[in-house]
Amino acid sequence: MKTVLKVKNLHKSYKDTVAVDSVSFDVREGEIFGILGPNGAGKTTTLEMIETMRPIDGGSAVLDGVDVAKNPQKIKEVIGVQPQTASFEEKTKLTELLEFFGSTYGHRVDAKELLEHVQLSEKAEVFPEKLSGGQRQRFSIATALVNNPKVLFLDEPTTGLDPQARRNLWDLIREIRDKGVTVILTTHYMEEAEVLCDRVAIMDSGKIIALDTPEKLVADLLSRGFKKEKQVEQADLEDVFIDLTGKELRE
Ligand code: ADP
Repeated sequence: MKTVLKVKNLHKSYKDTVAVDSVSFDVREGEIFGILGPNGAGKTTTLEMIETMRPIDGGSAVLDGVDVAKNPQKIKEVIGVQPQTASFEEKTKLTELLEFFGSTYGHRVDAKELLEHVQLSEKAEVFPEKLSGGQRQRFSIATALVNNPKVLFLDEPTTGLDPQARRNLWDLIREIRDKGVTVILTTHYMEEAEVLCDRVAIMDSGKIIALDTPEKLVADLLSRGFKKEKQVEQADLEDVFIDLTGKELRE
């Protein structure tokens, strides 16, 4: 499979803090790649350097054959970055916002089609303030797609969502991947990484300490002799919740 992102010895320090400590990894074209790690591990700093939002102190990132540090403008054209949902103009309609975001790239966007893609067609004429949490997240993903990016970056896309909205967003992220877009995301939800990500990197203290498919990482742990203290049930409380309340979105 083709490599779409090659990160080599990437480094970033803030005064005495080494935030990203010579990190290297490759992301393959068309995969969902997850970056996991406790707070302060260096996930955001790593992503923001690749997204051209923070200067790179050392090492390199090459995305779609373009060196991020040497040609940031070209990188901005081929990536989509999910903005923080708080940043939307509250008194501007969704279609107008999408057209505005598209115009910043010099693109004419088909706002209706994009809204349909994220299941927000019936909200085309409303203001962002009228959207639920899940709808805002889907809308923010739509804004990151206005330039038909090759690589989409999502920073904790499902934080704070109810189980139905999270599952709906997982489906959307898979659909985006299935259309050929590479997705790089961070999450604190391990079950999300397990069901959604083709491969995950686990970061701690600025370093990548493991990188593989979720299945392989679990198999490696078991082969090291790990055993759960409690017998694992075939279902958990989230399964009960979804079984009782269904998968339909409630917005
Ligand atoms: P994560 O996204 O995994 O929570 P971050 O990349 O935000 O981690 O942070 C990595 C480390 O760098 C942390 O120790 C954090 O306190 C520090 N850090 C992040 N941004 C800054 C900044 N702008 N100035 C100083 N230190 C920072």
